Amino acid sequence: MQKHYDAIVIGAGPSGTAAAFDLARAGISTAIIEKHALPRHKTCGGGMPMLIEQLLELDILADISPDAFVEADTLFMRHTYNFAEPVLAPMNAEGETRPLSLWMVQRSVFDNALAQRAKNAGAHLLTGYAVRGFESATRKTPMRVFGTGSDGDWSVTCNTLIGADGANGVIARCAGLRKQRAMAIAMEVEVPHSWGEGHPDLRKDVVHLEYGVVPLGYAWVFPKGDHINVGAGVFRPGGRTGRAEGSVKQELRKAILDYMELLGVPKKEEDLHFFAHPLPIWNGLDRIQTRDNRVLLTGDSAGLINPFFGDGIMHALKSGKIAAKCIIEGRQKEYTKDISSEFKKNMDSALKLARLFYRWPHICYRYGVTRPGATRTATRLLCGEAVFQDIAARAIRRLRSGMKAEGIADDPIQIDTVGSAPADSEA
Ligand SMILES: Cc1cc2nc3c(=O)[nH]c(=O)nc-3n(C[C@H](O)[C@H](O)[C@H](O)COP(=O)(O)OP(=O)(O)OC[C@H]3O[C@@H](n4cnc5c(N)ncnc54)[C@H](O)[C@@H]3O)c2cc1C
Repeated sequence: MQKHYDAIVIGAGPSGTAAAFDLARAGISTAIIEKHALPRHKTCGGGMPMLIEQLLELDILADISPDAFVEADTLFMRHTYNFAEPVLAPMNAEGETRPLSLWMVQRSVFDNALAQRAKNAGAHLLTGYAVRGFESATRKTPMRVFGTGSDGDWSVTCNTLIGADGANGVIARCAGLRKQRAMAIAMEVEVPHSWGEGHPDLRKDVVHLEYGVVPLGYAWVFPKGDHINVGAGVFRPGGRTGRAEGSVKQELRKAILDYMELLGVPKKEEDLHFFAHPLPIWNGLDRIQTRDNRVLLTGDSAGLINPFFGDGIMHALKSGKIAAKCIIEGRQKEYTKDISSEFKKNMDSALKLARLFYRWPHICYRYGVTRPGATRTATRLLCGEAVFQDIAARAIRRLRSGMKAEGIADDPIQIDTVGSAPADSEA
């Protein structure tokens, strides 16, 4: 292991590798330190927006053929409420000139491809090294990052540190950043599947979304190459029902098993490997850089998961790129401002709508999700072609008229609160 780097990135997920790739290409000596050997499992649905313009801006992806990591290209969403009231809708309007879709990736493959790209660009990829913390004698002396690996304790120094170490990152904790975290929780399982079996709508171009079975959340089925990814998440964890983490996990597991049963792919529970993981959802912009501007947080570590959909891969990639740009241009102090310009308005509006959606899911389902055009709008929001602030007023109007029609007197603008963090775990 080299003893000193200009920049060290902790974590080889999308945000870390995107940052390291740009830094290394700019000639900055860079190391990525990752605790696992690669490829590694990452608890995730692996659904990501396909929008060529955006992806091309992310140089790390520009030269990789999508065939290398895209296992399914989905064009339809099948929505249900309590596994009933099904609606199968296209993501695009008829004759759309620039059709959008959602790509389904397997994170072990995708993240490893990104890490190899960063390595080829010149970053030192150090895997199997778990970081325990960092320290610095003064603001002028290099920071010492330390941890443990298979050959014992190690340490290495750097001038700049990027905490891309995910939801439970040690860097945020060690730097005293992101104290106002709002954690959701999600669980997923990969179920081996032969296409052509099961429910007729179980197709490689269809994403399944179920809104009624998980209070304050939703469940999904995402198609992959030789399996389906079945998952469920609670996105307003400390909301009105205030369930304990253990009971939430039981609910998620049950929702997943019921979904599989309903889609005609029942499997023995003991043959399945359930993974649960916290989702640090956007809860307003918290402190994501230190006062001396030497430590920056990206991706999940910075809380950049959309509170409405629960997606974070694209935000992780973008934030890694923004961090690298600030470092390369010597304006690290502007990092939070740049992140804010990229994400704040949209995420704040998404949070407001999430509070409404997860509080009145059935009304939102009836008067929103099932409307013609709603699936297209959701796809455009996921792909960044539309922003939440532009649809918020219309969505609230619809909710109001839905509540009136259902005889509910509540004020939809009233909001609930976000709860506390569950621990990382294998369920
Ligand atoms: C069940 C579930 C389903 C999801 N589905 C989707 C989806 O369909 N679409 C979507 O866009 N988003 C989804 N997400 C969110 C998405 O997974 C994250 O937003 C994304 O992975 C964030 O990327 P990141 O680079 O910030 O962090 P991560 O991908 O979490 O990467 C962090 C890396 O840091 C490493 N690390 C952690 N601690 C240390 C340490 N101490 N030392 C060294 N290395 C360390 C980890 O091993 C890991 O490789 C889902 C999340 C969950 C939990």
